[in-house]
Amino acid sequence: IRCMAGSEPKAMQTREVPLDRYRNIGISAHIDAGKTTCTERVLFYTGKTYKIGEVHEGGAVMDWMEQEQERGITITSAATTCTWNQHLINIIDTPGHVDFTLEVERALRVLDGVVVLFDAVAGVEPQSETVWRQADRYKVPRICFVNKMDRAGANFFRTRDMMVEMLATTPLVMQIPIGVESEFEGVFDLVSMKAITWNGEELGASFDTTDEIPKGMEEDVKKYREILVEAAVEVDDAALEAYLEGEEPDEEALRKLVHQGTIGTKFVPLLCGSAFKNKGVQPLLDAVVAYLPSPLEVPHVKGTAVDDAEQALSRPPSDDAPLAALAFKIASDKYVGSLTFLRVYSGSLAQGTYAYNSNKGKRERISRILLMHANNREDIAVARTGDIVAVAGLKDITTGETLCDEEDPIILERMDFPDPVIKIA
Ligand code: GDP
Repeated sequence: IRCMAGSEPKAMQTREVPLDRYRNIGISAHIDAGKTTCTERVLFYTGKTYKIGEVHEGGAVMDWMEQEQERGITITSAATTCTWNQHLINIIDTPGHVDFTLEVERALRVLDGVVVLFDAVAGVEPQSETVWRQADRYKVPRICFVNKMDRAGANFFRTRDMMVEMLATTPLVMQIPIGVESEFEGVFDLVSMKAITWNGEELGASFDTTDEIPKGMEEDVKKYREILVEAAVEVDDAALEAYLEGEEPDEEALRKLVHQGTIGTKFVPLLCGSAFKNKGVQPLLDAVVAYLPSPLEVPHVKGTAVDDAEQALSRPPSDDAPLAALAFKIASDKYVGSLTFLRVYSGSLAQGTYAYNSNKGKRERISRILLMHANNREDIAVARTGDIVAVAGLKDITTGETLCDEEDPIILERMDFPDPVIKIA
C-alpha cells in the first residue's frame, strides 16, 4: 500500500472477490418505470448473500414485505454493495431526473455499466432518451430490461421498436416473454434455450425451467435466436468463420460473445420481466453478471498532472498501482457525520492512513472505510481497486475531487461538464 505516514492497516485481508467478478452498475429509468421496485427486489435477493464470499441460496421462504421490514431494505445510499452468484455488485444511484444532468454524468463516469429499465406499457419515454445520449457519450455498456410485462397494455416488441427508432440503438432480444399482461408467466431465454417460468405466488418460490418451447412461440424463438447468434458471432472472427461453416457457438461461448459485443457497445442485450413476479429480477441479475464489464474491461481511468492540466495521465485497474480515487458523492449521515463516496480506480486505500486530495493539495486521514449494504454497513480495513466505498469524516473534500498517492498524484476530473439542461416550462 502506498500511503503517507500512519498506522499499519489492522487487517490486510486478501481480496475476497477477484476483480474480474466486480460489476459496478447503475440502474437508470424514466420515473415510474419501476426502478425503486426493481432495485429493492435485487437487494432482497442478493441480501441473503450479502456477506462477501459466501453464497447460499434458499433459506426460509418469507413474505417480501416481512423480510423488507425485518431487514430494513432501503436504497437511500449513493452506492449499495451486494453479491450475486459469487460476484460483487455495486449499485450506484443514478438520478433519473433531467434536472440532475450533472449528477447523472458523474454517476455515468463512476460506473462501468448500466441497466436501463423501461415500462412495457409506456415504452421509451423522453427522459430515457436524455440519459441514453449521455451514456452514448461515455460509451457506457448497457443492458435493457422491459419491466411490467404483467401490466395491461404491455408490449415487449413495441418497446423494442421504440428503442430502435428513438434511441437509434441495436437492441438484441435475449428473452421472449411467455404470455403477456395477466397471463405473463415467464421468459424464454434464447441463450440457454430454456423456458423460465415463475411458479407459485410467494417471492421465495423457485423457478421452473424446461427445454420445451411454449406452444405458439416456435417461430419467434427461431427468428430471434438466429438474429442473436448472427449478431454475436460478428464480434469475433473465429466464431464468425465457424458459424459460416455451420457451427453454432455453445451456450457458454454465446454468452461470452454477447459480453464482448455489449462491452464494445456494438449492441444492447434486451430482457424482459416484471419486478412484481416471484424472482422476476433474477434473470436480470444473471445478465448483469454475464454481460456487463468488470473494472478490468473498461478503459483506464484518465486524469491530468497536478501542476499541468495539459499533461494527460492514466491509471491501470490494479491494486499495485498508485492510488487514484474519485469522490462522487458526499452525504451527511446521522451516525458518522459526513460520508464521502469514493470509487477506487487504481491502487488501494487503507484505514488509518493518509491520502492526498490533489485538487486541494491537502492530506486527509482515512479514519473509517465503510461498505454500504442494503441493510447494514461494514467496516473494512482496505478499499481496493474497483471498490466503491464510503469514507467517514473527511475534513475538506468536495464532490468531483481526487484522492491519490501524494508521491504520484493525479487529478481525475477537471470539471468539463456541459451546463445542466435548462427546463422549459
Ligand atoms: P420508479 O419511479 O422508477 O422508482 O418506479 P417505482 O418502483 O416506484 O414503481 C412505480 C409504480 O409501478 C409503483 O406503483 C410500482 O408498484 C409499480 N411497478 C413496479 N414494477 C412493476 C411491475 O413489474 N409490474 C407492475 N404491474 N407494476 C410495477
